[in-house]
Amino acid sequence: MEKRTNLTGLSKAELAEFIEQIGEPAYRGRQIFGALHQRRLQSFEEITELPKALRERLQKEATASTLKVESRYISEDGTRRYLMKTHDNLPVETVFIPEERRDTICFSSQSGCPLQCTFCLTAQLGLLRSLTPGEIVEQIIIALNDAYGVGEKPPRGTNLVGMGAGEPFLNFDSLMKALGIMADPQGLFIVPHRVTVSTAGVVPRIRELATLTQRPNLAISLAAPTDNLRDELMPINKKWPIGELLGACKEFEQTIKAGERFTFEYVMLDGINDSGEQARQLANLLNRYDLHARVNLIPHNPADPLPYQPSPMARVESFKYILESKGVRTFVRRPRGRDIFAACGQLAARRETNTIQQSIGA
Ligand code: SF4
Repeated sequence: MEKRTNLTGLSKAELAEFIEQIGEPAYRGRQIFGALHQRRLQSFEEITELPKALRERLQKEATASTLKVESRYISEDGTRRYLMKTHDNLPVETVFIPEERRDTICFSSQSGCPLQCTFCLTAQLGLLRSLTPGEIVEQIIIALNDAYGVGEKPPRGTNLVGMGAGEPFLNFDSLMKALGIMADPQGLFIVPHRVTVSTAGVVPRIRELATLTQRPNLAISLAAPTDNLRDELMPINKKWPIGELLGACKEFEQTIKAGERFTFEYVMLDGINDSGEQARQLANLLNRYDLHARVNLIPHNPADPLPYQPSPMARVESFKYILESKGVRTFVRRPRGRDIFAACGQLAARRETNTIQQSIGA
């Protein structure tokens, strides 16, 4: 069991305090913070501006990185999926998605997931454990270093989405701490409005988010327009049914400021939740709660053991047409990285043999 403090999971102030506690001046803490986050170094050995004795001491008492990259899969569309292991040998998955104007990194908040959404492969792992703030931040550092080289400035902006394995709002404190660390201008400097966190509907945390000023954009995974169907597809609905969920969403929406985004995600499952009647039910539901958030339609990403197929594109388009005709802004999301099991709902620590796989043994 790793007992040493992971310095990547400490804020700049905490790091200064840690350094003072071991009898060193606080500015060394700020130096280390810059080295770990702005220069994205992953070992104390590389922080050559620190005296050798301090580097050796840190190696004994702390860690600069704890995740090990086991394999990397590269999709035909440039998407990269990393399968990593924690110090206690649990899987963590991260996906890097290059786009014309920006890159998006999809990170995991838990190893596995306790929720049992029936369209998601991650659900089959169950919850292994929640990730620490350091393990969340490290995923971003590893993906950026792999894409651009250690410490190299990304040529485009970096967006983060908390849509990997796990329910982020069941690991709320670690998530918010990691986001605070990543927002630091002397570090990665990825500010909250570049981050979107998706929840299956943990109502108390949606309400809590509504009270915060520094917060990520919010996405709600809805998947069904009625409680009956949502109970089946997303059992969390039995605890917080649609009425309660949308009530909390309205509270959140009322606090939205310029530049913040709020969306609903609706996975499209062939013959399950994609009929014209269901599109009307969904539009009426959102209108009833006076919600103006955009709906993202996401064609399901097929994954072997799951009993679903993606809705045909024609049905996705007609679903969109009905929503829009009732005043609901709608967008169809293009799936990325399906061939390497990097797409939404496909993360389940899968090892492939039919794709480009490279071990980069961090
Ligand atoms: S969809 Fe998200 S919340 Fe649901 S089981 Fe998968 S990882 Fe967990």
